[in-house]
Amino acid sequence: MAGEFDPQLKRALAERVRYYNELGIYDFYRREPAAANPNTIEDAVVDDNPVIQPEQREEMRPRSKTAVALPVLTEEDLFELANSKPVIDPAQALRVIREDLGDCTRCRLHKQGRKQIVFEVGNPNAELMFIGEAPGADEDQQGEPFVGRAGQLLNNMIKAMGLRREDIYIANIIKCRPPGNRTPERDECETCSPFLMRQIAAIKPKVIVALGAVAAKTLLAINAPMSEFRGRWFDFRGTKLAVTYHPAFLLRDPRQKKEAWKDLQMVMRELGLAIPAKGVE
Ligand code: URA
Repeated sequence: MAGEFDPQLKRALAERVRYYNELGIYDFYRREPAAANPNTIEDAVVDDNPVIQPEQREEMRPRSKTAVALPVLTEEDLFELANSKPVIDPAQALRVIREDLGDCTRCRLHKQGRKQIVFEVGNPNAELMFIGEAPGADEDQQGEPFVGRAGQLLNNMIKAMGLRREDIYIANIIKCRPPGNRTPERDECETCSPFLMRQIAAIKPKVIVALGAVAAKTLLAINAPMSEFRGRWFDFRGTKLAVTYHPAFLLRDPRQKKEAWKDLQMVMRELGLAIPAKGVE
């Protein structure tokens, strides 16, 4: 788009994007009818020529409450303009997101027995981000993702990769424990995930690993079984995303750990990490 706007207009547009960002609005859409959404794995999987186009991904974005129509600009224009703002320290950006989240009452979970919001754990400068489903009882108690039995196994997975928990950034699709650890409802995911999107945008990881089907389906807006998600790369807003089994599932079926190890090796290759012979225990 370089050269299409005069500098004054460009500055004004950048100001406008910044203004929306300060209101907590990060995602924009065009009014023109877009091409079909990525309803299938084949549509979304990363290939030598990625097939999923930004305008095909309307489904994944926060719905009407936060989306703002700016019909004169393409999405690429807006990203370029948004990126022209000064680089913000990821830790600071995360503090702002946490502040915006506040003592959240946006969905029913706030009155269904949650003790606290479970926002994040890890390194704001991480290259690798793990995204789980929802806090369980231990996480709700301690205010940190993946600290229970599933968390112990996730720690083993991280260690097997030659990394430490402190090297990674970990968050969940939703930030409050659903009663009885039930699967999050779609509207709960939709209400909460814009904050996760902002966390991802702040961290800018090199690779995202979605843990389990709920995380994969929510992030990719595709309804498919795990068998179709695993073993391939997806494009998540310009970031490579892989899917592996949720550690809670691996606790129930430890024979699948060797499959999860294959997924993690794919991630390690992408991150340029040496692959040790020993897998996940
Ligand atoms: N399971 C998850 O998906 N997330 C947690 O934080 C803990 C267990």
